[in-house]
Amino acid sequence: MSFFKKNNTYKTKEWKITKKCLNLILESSKSTYPNEFGALLRVDTEDIETIIELVLLPGTISGETHAIFRLNMLPIDFSVVGSVHSHPSYHPIPSKPDLQLFSRFGKIHIITAQPYNETSWKAYDYKGKEKKLIVI
Ligand code: ZN
Repeated sequence: MSFFKKNNTYKTKEWKITKKCLNLILESSKSTYPNEFGALLRVDTEDIETIIELVLLPGTISGETHAIFRLNMLPIDFSVVGSVHSHPSYHPIPSKPDLQLFSRFGKIHIITAQPYNETSWKAYDYKGKEKKLIVI
């Protein structure tokens, strides 16, 4: 059997996030405004498609422009699957630096925007393509 066989046995991931975790993200985005809020996303180790927790990264700079993640500060933790940050605008659209970050690390990334409610956020994959994220 070839080591390089196609990974066609993997099914497409269906990402989920708990309502509690999403609420925390929205609350944090709101309270950090007009600065950006940034954190990492952690999944349940029993259910690796469900985001349940935020990891606050030491050294994350929350500024008026863009939350900067210090990737060298990343914990060696396979339950960390992506990132979340807030935009002080009404547009949860990834910027160029966002796309660079997405491509360098993680599988799912959330951006929140004003007014930081249940409909003012979007999730993206590592290419910056919009990704479905189910709230459970
Ligand atoms: Zn951004």
